[in-house]
Amino acid sequence: MIRPRYATQFNINGESVLLSISASFRGADNLSFLLHKHPDRFQTFDMSFGKAHVFYREASDERVTACLLLDVDPVGMAKKHRGQSGQLAGYVNDRPYVTSSFMSTAIASIFGSAMAGRCNDRADAVNTPMDLTIQLESLPVKGGEAFLRSLFEPLGYDIEAHGAALDERFPEWGESPYFSVRLRANRLLCEVLNHLYVLIPVFDNQKHYFVGLDEIEKLLSKGEGWLAMHPCRDAITRRYLRHQGGMVRQAVQRLKADGGEIREDDEDDIPDASSVILPTSSLNEQRYESVARELVRSGGTRVIDLGCGDGKLLRRLMQKKQFTDIVGMDVSVRSLEIASKRLRLDSLPPRQAERIRLMHGSLMYRDTRLSGFDAACLVEVIEHLDPPRLAAMQRVVFQHARPQTVIVTTPNVEYNVMWESLPAGNYRHSDHRFEWTREEFQAWSTTVANEHGYTVRFEGIGPEAEGVGTPTQMAVFRCRDEVFGEATGEPS
Ligand code: SAH
Repeated sequence: MIRPRYATQFNINGESVLLSISASFRGADNLSFLLHKHPDRFQTFDMSFGKAHVFYREASDERVTACLLLDVDPVGMAKKHRGQSGQLAGYVNDRPYVTSSFMSTAIASIFGSAMAGRCNDRADAVNTPMDLTIQLESLPVKGGEAFLRSLFEPLGYDIEAHGAALDERFPEWGESPYFSVRLRANRLLCEVLNHLYVLIPVFDNQKHYFVGLDEIEKLLSKGEGWLAMHPCRDAITRRYLRHQGGMVRQAVQRLKADGGEIREDDEDDIPDASSVILPTSSLNEQRYESVARELVRSGGTRVIDLGCGDGKLLRRLMQKKQFTDIVGMDVSVRSLEIASKRLRLDSLPPRQAERIRLMHGSLMYRDTRLSGFDAACLVEVIEHLDPPRLAAMQRVVFQHARPQTVIVTTPNVEYNVMWESLPAGNYRHSDHRFEWTREEFQAWSTTVANEHGYTVRFEGIGPEAEGVGTPTQMAVFRCRDEVFGEATGEPS
C-alpha cells in the first residue's frame, strides 16, 4: 500500500530534512513494530528546535519505508536563545535544510526503544539482521566523500553518495559540502540507528547544544559494540566531543579498556597465527562479524571459540554485553600467547577479566571443559584437520560438548577462481588439508546434523560471484533437543 497523501504533503525529495529507512524482504513487516510507529498513522512530535514528523512512504509485504522529517524553526530558536549566538547567524543558517545533530536528537527521542533494541511484540526481530536502505538528504560532510566512506564502510555499509558543485555556474567555487547519501546493509535496526545517531554530527563537525560530560556516556553507550573497533575511532570521538581534549582522552581510554581492545594499527607487530595469504582482510572482518552476529542471535551467553587462533573473534565477542562467559580454545600455544597479548588479558579491568579465558586443548579428544556452553564456533578450522580426523572432532563437539548452537565456517573452493593471484588448483593456505565446494560442505554438514540430532542452515559470507557463490561458507547448527519453540530455530 503506497501512501501518496504523505508523500505529496511534504516535499520529501527536496530540501526538507529527511531521513528514510526502508526494509525489504523478510524484515519488511518487522520495521514498523521495531520502530514502535504504526504504518497507518502520521505522527508529529514537539522538539526543542521545532517539530518532527514520522510517517510511512510505503508499507507493503515486500517493502516498508519509514520517514522522519524535521521541521526546524530557526526563528523560534533564535528568539529562545537571544543574545547567545551572533545576531544574524541565529536566523540565517543552513540548519533548517540539513541533516545535523537535530536529526540525532530526533532519532534518540522518537526511536529510543528501537535504538535500545526493545520490542516485546517482535522480540526475535530485534536480533535478526534486516536488509535495510537508509537515505540521508543534505548531509553536510566536512572531509568529503572519502571521509564519508571511511566512516560507513568499515561498518559494512554499501554507500552511494552524490555531491554537487556549490554553484554549477561557478565551478571555481568548488564542491558543496552537502551530500545525498544512500546506505545499504544487512544489519540490526538498533545498530543502524546507533551508527546514525553518533555519526551524523561527526560528519557535520558541529552540534546545536553544549557538549557536557554526559556526552561521553552517550557516545560510549551508543557506540557500544562498534566504536572501540572502528579504524577511525579517534577521529569520530574527537569530532563527536567537539575537540575538547580532556573529554576526548577520557573517552578514548575507556573505549580501549572496555573490551580489552587494541587498535588495528597496533596490531602490525603481531604475527598472524593463521598466516592466511588469502582472502583479504575485509573478508576476514565480514566473517568475524557474521559469526559474532549469529552467536548473538543464538541468544546464548556462554560461548566458546574452538580453534580461536590469535583471538580476533574473541576480541569482537568481548564487545557484546550478552556474552558473560567467553572462552577461546586452541591446540597451538603460540597462538594462545598472541591471543592473550591481543586481548591484553594481563591488564583487563576485573569486570572484563571475569568474562574471558583461554584454554589449551585439542578438538581431537573428548574434554569435559568443553561442556556447558550455549554456543560454539569453529571459524576456518575444519579445513586444517585431516579428513579422517574430522569424525573425532564431530564426536567431541556434537556428541559430547553438545552446545545448543554450533557455527562452522570454511572456504568455498569454487570461489578460488576469482583470485587471480591464486594458482589454479592451489588451496588458499598451505596448511589446508582440503577445501570444499558448497555441495560438499552442505553434504557433510547435513550428515553431521542428522547423526547428532541438529538442524542446519547455510549462509554465504563475502561478495557473491555468479556461478561460484561467496568466498566463505557458513553452517549454523541448532540442537534439536531445544530447537522447537526457540525464537531463532529454523529447521531447514
Ligand atoms: N578461528 C581463527 C583461526 C583459524 S586458523 C580465525 O578465524 O582467526 C585454524 C586454527 O585452528 C589454528 O589456530 C590452529 O591452531 C587451530 N587448530 C588446528 N587443529 C586444531 C585442533 N585439533 N584442536 C584445536 N585447534 C586446532
